[in-house]
Amino acid sequence: MSVAGMENAVAFVNAFLADEFAAQKSVSFERNYDLVTDKVRKVDAYFRLASGISSGIGRPKFLPETMLNRLRNQGDRMEQRRLFVMVQHEQPDMGRLFRCVLSGGTIGANDNFAESLWLGNLGDGLQILTRLAVCVTCNSTGLHRGEKCPDCGASGWLHRGGVRIPDPGRLSEVGRFIAPVDPVQKEIYDAMGEVAPS
Ligand SMILES: [Zn+2]
Repeated sequence: MSVAGMENAVAFVNAFLADEFAAQKSVSFERNYDLVTDKVRKVDAYFRLASGISSGIGRPKFLPETMLNRLRNQGDRMEQRRLFVMVQHEQPDMGRLFRCVLSGGTIGANDNFAESLWLGNLGDGLQILTRLAVCVTCNSTGLHRGEKCPDCGASGWLHRGGVRIPDPGRLSEVGRFIAPVDPVQKEIYDAMGEVAPS
């Protein structure tokens, strides 16, 4: 089997985002619980569940009408998340890894960084290995009031589950798709994948 490349990773993430949105909409609007479960299973299949992460999408089988109304209201504010950037790395032990940066997926939160995912191929096709949330303290810059950010330890991201990747290895390719609106994040976006001069 050939090693997944940038195009495969982008197609994988775009399919994931479409299926994620369908599952979220289903949770909000679908009355038939079995149909909701089918959609949630489909989106959970993108995750390496063995590493302890999943889509986090779902709803209990029986809910009072007030809760269903609340879910419908949430559903009205949802948008499909966007892919800003994809970075490819060659990790000596884990093989090729990809990191992508995504938006938040609700109206008003879809123009800027919200989450970063690591993708890898651990023998069964591409899978999401790790979830990271943007650090709001430093707006993913890693700096807070001129010092190393106390919340994220200067990485700009907070580990939210899955495989920890301390050294992603050599960066081999970058794909930029849309820029975030926030000017600070736009600078990070523009610099992503550039190797600092030594
Ligand atoms: Zn931070």
